[in-house]
Amino acid sequence: MTELTIDPILVLLDVSSTGELATSAAELLGAAARIGTPVAVIITRPGHGQDAAMAAGVQGAQRVLVAETPEVDSVLAAHIVDGLVLAYERVNPSAVLISNSIEGRDVAGRFAVRTQNALAVDAVGVDCDDEGIIVHHSVYGGAYDVDSAVTFGTPVVTIREGGVEDRAAAANPIIESLEYVGTGRRAATIVSFAPEPAKSSRPSLRGATRVVAGGRGVGSAEDFALVEQLADVLGAAVGASRVAVDSGYVPHSYQVGQTGVSVSPQLYIALGISGAIQHRAGMQTAKTIVAINKDPEALIFEIADFGVVGDLFTVVPQLVSALIATKD
Ligand SMILES: Cc1cc2nc3c(=O)[nH]c(=O)nc-3n(C[C@H](O)[C@H](O)[C@H](O)COP(=O)(O)OP(=O)(O)OC[C@H]3O[C@@H](n4cnc5c(N)ncnc54)[C@H](O)[C@@H]3O)c2cc1C
Repeated sequence: MTELTIDPILVLLDVSSTGELATSAAELLGAAARIGTPVAVIITRPGHGQDAAMAAGVQGAQRVLVAETPEVDSVLAAHIVDGLVLAYERVNPSAVLISNSIEGRDVAGRFAVRTQNALAVDAVGVDCDDEGIIVHHSVYGGAYDVDSAVTFGTPVVTIREGGVEDRAAAANPIIESLEYVGTGRRAATIVSFAPEPAKSSRPSLRGATRVVAGGRGVGSAEDFALVEQLADVLGAAVGASRVAVDSGYVPHSYQVGQTGVSVSPQLYIALGISGAIQHRAGMQTAKTIVAINKDPEALIFEIADFGVVGDLFTVVPQLVSALIATKD
């Protein structure tokens, strides 16, 4: 086994049931490469490990530890923690990076408790200085940038999807298998599993690079088609404010904000959204924010890079036509 001499950063990659890496892989490995040598861990069902490991190399993993287990189909989270602990003991990393996805948060908490390490959640970046690893967070709706550092052990960090721009150079990874030994700890078991057929070809909200979101100002479920139209022209995901969700314009899965999804896209367009702190909490780290609102005093303009004061039913159709015209 080849040992890397530079500080290894252990990165747990989320893998789909069909063995594909989640979109969060690139930014996790990018964040790891910023501070050390990215060593990926992949826990997947038997037969999927090699392809997933090669894909991790393309995204910048220098070394990949692969554990294959049929428990992927029957257990929630605990088997991933078992595999991650094995990798942690083998690699002795300087930090462990995990996606801030639903599963990632579950795994991170269990892993930190099991290994008695400190946990830093929902990071938007990592760096290091003379004293060690620094974790960047965006808190209180993006109103404050906060840095944290652990005072003991190895930091376990969950990274917000879309929060990190760093990308690692492609590598030809050393691939090692981890002899998976489940600890049989109590865990929720999966009694049935049925993939939801994709209802739309739009990108999903989590991890989307462009998001078009609508709020109360859109007025109705029927008129939400205008939000979707703009999203489709831009190849964007569709989001919504809580009022839009509570009013039944769109399902709850579209909600952006404190009690919804957090997004950090390159472009976020807010249509008829006032910019309440709870909404901003989920989108303020977007790289470019565009707001269309008929109220010039709307809070959303405080954080918008570009703003249009106007009726969205007048502005958006013109915007859609102009975008279509540029494509022709
Ligand atoms: C504990 C808690 C958690 C919450 N979590 C969330 C959350 O996760 N996400 C979230 O979004 N909210 C959340 N909220 C609710 C939040 O406080 C706001 O009520 C909500 O974000 C407002 O939604 P909105 O901007 O669509 O509606 P409004 O605040 O009513 O704003 C509508 C905007 O549309 C504009 N408008 C109206 N008509 C037009 C038009 N024709 N053209 C252009 N502009 C127009 C208006 O000028 C106005 O600015 C939470 C609240 C609480 C208390």
